[in-house]
Formats: sequence, structure tokens, C-alpha cells
Amino acid sequence: MKYISIIGSTGSIGTQSLDIVRTNEDLKVVALAAGSNITLLEKQAREFKPDIIGIWDEDKAKELRIALSEFDIRIVSGMDGLIEVATYEKAEIVITAIVGMIGIKPTVEAIKAGKDIALANKETLVTAGHIIMPLAKEKGVNILPVDSEHSAIFQCIHGEENNKISRLLITASGGPFRGKTRKELENVTVSDALKHPNWSMGHKITIDSATMVNKGLEVIEARWLFDVEPSHIEVVVQPQSIIHSMVEFNDGAVKAQLGTPDMKLPIQYALFYPERRNLAGERLDFTKMNGIIIEKPDKEVFKGLDFAYTSLEKGGSMPTVFNAANEKAVALFLNEKIKFLEIYDIIEKCMSVHKIIQNPTLEDILNTQNEVNEYINKII
Ligand code: NDP
Repeated sequence: MKYISIIGSTGSIGTQSLDIVRTNEDLKVVALAAGSNITLLEKQAREFKPDIIGIWDEDKAKELRIALSEFDIRIVSGMDGLIEVATYEKAEIVITAIVGMIGIKPTVEAIKAGKDIALANKETLVTAGHIIMPLAKEKGVNILPVDSEHSAIFQCIHGEENNKISRLLITASGGPFRGKTRKELENVTVSDALKHPNWSMGHKITIDSATMVNKGLEVIEARWLFDVEPSHIEVVVQPQSIIHSMVEFNDGAVKAQLGTPDMKLPIQYALFYPERRNLAGERLDFTKMNGIIIEKPDKEVFKGLDFAYTSLEKGGSMPTVFNAANEKAVALFLNEKIKFLEIYDIIEKCMSVHKIIQNPTLEDILNTQNEVNEYINKII
């Protein structure tokens, strides 16, 4: 039996992780956490009977305690609650399916407590990769990627540990606005931006896919996960989302991982690595395919990619600024306070005024996020 804790259990990755638990009798959920969706958390609690549940909002925690009073489930709240769920002694592996930089502290504490991490929460590595990867090494903890592109790379390099990677090729779908000009993007709405062609995901990452900031975040995530220099990480557009990413080795051989766009595969792979388990679902039918399309990304329109490379080049706290500015700008766009293209303007402004802190501590990272948020509040 493998005991797992999920932070962000009510979201897209969280609910799909629970689907994997449903089909594998040797997985047991011992701890769950979410932000405010207590209706779904209550259902999950009744089905999976965890020992402990974390809910961000204290008032919701009170409501949930009443709703689940017939069960012996400890209900905790706030950041302390999230950390309690992430470090719960019975859990061996923590799925970080929470969205945004709020995931950093619980992830760091889980690593300190010796838990393996099935990492979906990319914002954590983007901002604190230089802290997380050495800490995981020190504690002997595995960081198992859940992001489909990083899982693809992880699958490609399995068994290649002594071989030299010459290039990582991260694939992007291009999102809902692939092929559009800047002019055409001027007045796109939130609902236009939420129509992802291939993947059904949470709102924040769906907007990140539309701006291609998501791909930028993934370049930074890959830099830390696989210890590959940014100049050896390339992004290509693969609009069918069949090739999930590729690795080129020093002899020129390229390995790719292919499959239908289904996040359950990378989630399950992370939970059972290196074992492959049966997973129901559609299979690729190559005979029905009209070729596999690969394109260059349009970096002029979708500036998210260049921001990521610049932030890596500047280093220190700059990736935090890139990420934090994006988090805030996406929230403003989702609340219809700014236009789509203003997401880029905000990130650019925040990055241009920031004074870089080299080798930032966790405190520096969180302070930088606060500064970025305050700055954005001033300029909008
Ligand atoms: P969702 O928006 O669908 O879910 C986010 C989850 O985080 C929800 O359970 C939400 O709870 C919880 N949450 C938000 N704020 C808090 C908080 N303050 N305290 C506790 N829990 C909180 O996101 P996704 O599942 O799409 O994405 C999660 C992460 O995985 C992101 O970092 C994303 O980039 C990454 N990822 C997602 C992929 C996908 O296919 N969805 C693919 C690859 C990576 P509540 O419901 O109560 O608000």
C-alpha cells in the first residue's frame, strides 16, 4: 500500500489523481487539502476517508468540521494546515496539485519531512528551483514530474542516466490563439482564452497556455528538474499534443514520448515510477493521423517564452518576478480587469524595474512576490 497526500485535491490535477487512486487498490489517500471548495472536499472525504483535511479558509474549515462531524477526520486550515497535510507522517508521497506560489512552503516542508513529491505545481520550481532541487538531494527525496512535458522527458531519460543530453525539446500545443496576430488578440475575451484545443485544465494554466507563459515556466522547470542549461532547451509547437516532449542525446538520437493528451498518464507514472500500470483510455491510431505537425513558436506575438529565457539569464529573483507578475496579471485578466495583451505589458514592466537579489532565500522569494503584487496594484 502506498500512502499519499494531495494538496489541491479539488482541482484538475487533484481530481484526476483521485481517479488514479480509484483504479489502483494499493493507493490510499491519507491527507487532502484545497482552497475553498468544501462541497467537493466533503464528497472526497466521504469517499476516501483521509485522516486529515486542510482547507485554506478558516470559516470554511468550521463548516467542514460540522459537515464531517460523524467522521474521525482532523480538519486544519491556513498555511499551517497546508503544511500539516503536506508533512503528514503517514504519507510517503505528496502530490502538489495546488496552483501558484502558495505551494512553495508546503512543498519545501514536505521535502524536509522526507516525502517524495509528485510535482504538478510548477510555480514552485520556477521560483525556488535552486532551493528545492539541492534540498531534495540532501533529503534523498524524489521529485517526480507530473507536468506532461517533464514526465515525457523523465520517461525518455529513464535508463540513460550515464548518457549526455544535448537538447531538450519541449513541445507546446500553441494554445487557442496559435497563428493569431497581435492585432487579433487585442480584444479577445476570457472565454476565448479558456478554450484550449487539446487539454482540459484549471483556469490559470489555461490562460498561461494561451499566452505561452506556460511554456516559459516549463523551460525554467526543466532547467531545474533535469539540470540542463537554458541554451540547450528548445520549444517547438506540436499542435496535436501527441508528442509530449523529446530528448536529443549527444550521438544525435532523439527519444520522444507520445500518447493521447491525458494527464492521468503522467500522474500515474509519477505515483508508480518506474513501473507502468494499465491505464484505460484511447490509444493513438497512427493510421488515422495526417502527419505529425511541428512548427516554430511565434515569439513576437507570444512573448511569454522570451520573458522566461530572459529571467533565467538574469537569474536570482528574476524568475520569481516573471512568475509572480504573471500570477497576478492572469488573476486580473480572469476578473476582466485587464485585457489579454496587458498580461505581457505587466510582466515586462515588473521585470524591468526589479533589482535582482542573487541566490534568493525562501523569504526573499515571498517578499519579492509581495513587492510585485504591490507594484502591479500601483500601476493598474
Ligand atoms: P486548478 O485551478 O484546477 O486547481 C487548483 C487547486 O489548488 C484546487 O484544488 C484549489 O482549491 C487549490 N488551491 C488554490 N488555492 C489554494 C490555497 N490557498 N490553499 C489550498 N489549496 C488551494 O489547477 P490545476 O489542477 O489545473 O493546476 C494545478 C497545478 O498543476 C498548477 O501549478 C498547474 O500549472 C499545474 N499543472 C496542471 C496541469 C493540468 O492539466 N491541469 C498540467 C500540468 C501542470 P479550490 O478548488 O478549493 O479552489
